[in-house]
Amino acid sequence: MRCNFCEWRCKMPASVCHMYEERDGRIEEIYPNQWTTYYITNSEGIPLFHGWPNHQFLQLGAFNCNASCAYCINARVAIEPESKTFLFHLAPERVVRIAQKASCSGIHFSVNEVTVNLPSALAVAREAKKQGLIVGCSSNGYFTKAAADMMLEYFDFFNISLKSLSDDYYRKHAGLKSAAPVMRNIEYLASRTHLEVTTTVVQTVNDHEIPIIAEFLAAVDPQMPWHIFRLLPEYKMEDRQPPDIEEISGRVKQCRDILPNTYFSNYIGTQLINTLCPSCAAVLVERICAQSCGVTLSGYNMKGSICPNCGAEGSGCHRSCRSFLWLHHSWGKYSPSCCSQRVFALTVVQL
Ligand code: SF4
Repeated sequence: MRCNFCEWRCKMPASVCHMYEERDGRIEEIYPNQWTTYYITNSEGIPLFHGWPNHQFLQLGAFNCNASCAYCINARVAIEPESKTFLFHLAPERVVRIAQKASCSGIHFSVNEVTVNLPSALAVAREAKKQGLIVGCSSNGYFTKAAADMMLEYFDFFNISLKSLSDDYYRKHAGLKSAAPVMRNIEYLASRTHLEVTTTVVQTVNDHEIPIIAEFLAAVDPQMPWHIFRLLPEYKMEDRQPPDIEEISGRVKQCRDILPNTYFSNYIGTQLINTLCPSCAAVLVERICAQSCGVTLSGYNMKGSICPNCGAEGSGCHRSCRSFLWLHHSWGKYSPSCCSQRVFALTVVQL
């Protein structure tokens, strides 16, 4: 019997992720409702720049993965052998209650690959939707179309990691066979839901691909939000140098001609996380990055959906414009100081 959740399509009892087994003619999770991590983040930290700005999410993660990225930033909790020692049990109803108690607008699956604990994630998502919460995930995108359809039933957004367009890169640095399923899923999801894409840049390894990835994404959707994440060398790539900010920034700026919503993050002071008007380049949405992954909203300059500088309508840059309109109308009540304290804190909710 084969597992149909990701493109490994493992034939049981072999399982690349070690998270499923065959029981009574069915593929079953070995660790149902077992998680390793939960904490609160803001939408910008996911990153989710074009939907639900400044909303809080309960970020939930389990362990193990179907990939083995040499630069994994979550290795300790997600893939190293000791990650199993972090496991705790939380029923779906309990996860949702915690999210509500912490005033979160939604739940975001992250830290490890959601596909390897998909039935548990779907159970949480189902319960969350009953309670009116937003649901989404960050994923390596190596799942099957069948898994995509299961998630699309409940998930409001995806952030897919597109590491490269090269199969060789996927084999050497991510432990996956090919880029093709990830590219196929990006095309599939883009036409069905809110999608943002992230690429971790490893200088001298995939930085030369920045323009061709931009072209691929622009062909899928010219307004696609694309996050280029500056890798701080970790795990098995500790010996690498961090990407050169000036050099990568130059490429990112060029990419904005092809794909205007291209961002460059994960270093203090970056200006390349602001959303610009595609007509006049005025700053429409301002964000600040004060620490690794610590992006937060700092200003919203649009008048409704209009650029205040040139009057361009909407600009097509915020597909979830209802939440941006909400932000616009409630901006007077927004307090950057208390909000930044709230969103920067790595908050552990009492069980
Ligand atoms: S989810 Fe795990 S068991 Fe299923 S195909 Fe992928 S790696 Fe194999």
